[in-house]
Amino acid sequence: MNVYDSARMADILSPLGYSMTAEPEGADMAILNTCHIREKASEKTFSELGRLRNMRKSKQASDEGDMIIAVAGCVAQAEGKEIMKRAPYVDMVFGPQSYHKLPEMLAEATRGAGQILDTDFPVEPKFDSLPDEAIDTNLSAFLTVQEGCDKFCAFCVVPYTRGAEFSRSVDSILSEAKRMIAGGTREITLLGQNVNAYHGEGPDGRTYSLAELIQELAALDGLWRLRYTTSHPLEMTEDLCRVHRDVDILMPYLHLPVQAGSDRILEAMNRRHTADEYRRIIDKLRGYRPDLALSGDFIVGFPGETDAEFEDTMQLVRDVSYAQAYSFKYSPRPGTPAAALEGQMIEEKIKSERLAALQALLNEQQLAFNKSFEGREVPVLLEREGKREGQLIGRSPYMQSVFVQSPTHRIGRTATVIVEEGNANSLRGKLKPGDIASAA
Ligand code: SAH
Ligand code: SF4
Repeated sequence: MNVYDSARMADILSPLGYSMTAEPEGADMAILNTCHIREKASEKTFSELGRLRNMRKSKQASDEGDMIIAVAGCVAQAEGKEIMKRAPYVDMVFGPQSYHKLPEMLAEATRGAGQILDTDFPVEPKFDSLPDEAIDTNLSAFLTVQEGCDKFCAFCVVPYTRGAEFSRSVDSILSEAKRMIAGGTREITLLGQNVNAYHGEGPDGRTYSLAELIQELAALDGLWRLRYTTSHPLEMTEDLCRVHRDVDILMPYLHLPVQAGSDRILEAMNRRHTADEYRRIIDKLRGYRPDLALSGDFIVGFPGETDAEFEDTMQLVRDVSYAQAYSFKYSPRPGTPAAALEGQMIEEKIKSERLAALQALLNEQQLAFNKSFEGREVPVLLEREGKREGQLIGRSPYMQSVFVQSPTHRIGRTATVIVEEGNANSLRGKLKPGDIASAA
């Protein structure tokens, strides 16, 4: 979502004469778009700010003008005042719900109004104020449909930094999608912190579910692939499970985080479902879409987690078998209920051991998943050139990166690739001969 937000900020600034640079050195403005989800991500803010400050100094010293420094995103939201105090050279600090006001903030900052702080959750949602040009038209692009979260998992800062759940209207999403498609987008990933909690106003005034929104989008001409992320198990409703069977452009890949495999830990995390309920959701989804590949998020070392409870997570992973996954050591976040469980914090060494064991299992599953494609034909949306001469990189329906030798003019098309090699993080294959002829 930060990638999506950064692109929107660039679009908002373009009428003011700004365009993206490849490197921050020498830039007229630097916006650090930050993440607060874990301590490590959040700590980076201050070290990166130090680097930007040095760049600004050398720009000033060489008489090439000034550099405006801004901090955006969730660290700005959560620690705005602290940033302004610790880094008084920062010109603007604004949260994820107020970047549509960038032109006004910029005008104020350049007028010498001092440091600008905007971390309000505005009544007027930012999506209504984004300019029409502010859209992503990459071949494969993101579209935010839902933001914020009301779930309050005990470890998580999102409900505090991104704010309450909000769904955009079906009309505004459809018109953004149409503009994306007209600009060349063929694959759209619907984004939301809790995307399947989507409940937006439909054209008829009724509230639409994510399943209904997906059906509306699937009817648009020129769109080849749809995905959505990130979902919560509680909202994997029957109609949403069923669109995995009924909507052919919905890709057979789902990121469905579970966090842990122990019911006691799930309860302490306030996830509001058991491990078996999660297993049953997966069974149901696979019933509708047998080739569905799964991805997940896991936290090891949540306060009080015992060896046996960690083993429950390992067992759940064995039962589900993931094509891909993200796993993290629990990181106490200020203001969250879990961070107050002081007496129960797990030692760093144990967290590291558990993470290593979990990641070894997940890597094994990912490699086995990729290897299972050897000899098979997969439709690959060719996205860009690779590093090697004549090589293109694309994606399979299951989110695997696929490397293939192909003429560049095929970028933007879907090719049938015969997979020759399944590796840890990618597939390698060759274009199917008949497929080349038909495209030529
Ligand atoms: N809305 C999604 C997740 C958003 S945060 C969901 O409910 O699943 C992305 C991931 O970061 C989470 O799934 C979780 O695995 C991880 N995460 C969040 N807070 C964390 C914390 N305090 N420590 C470690 N990992 C965390
Ligand atoms: Fe955080 Fe996801 Fe839980 Fe919301 S549902 S609190 S975003 S982990």
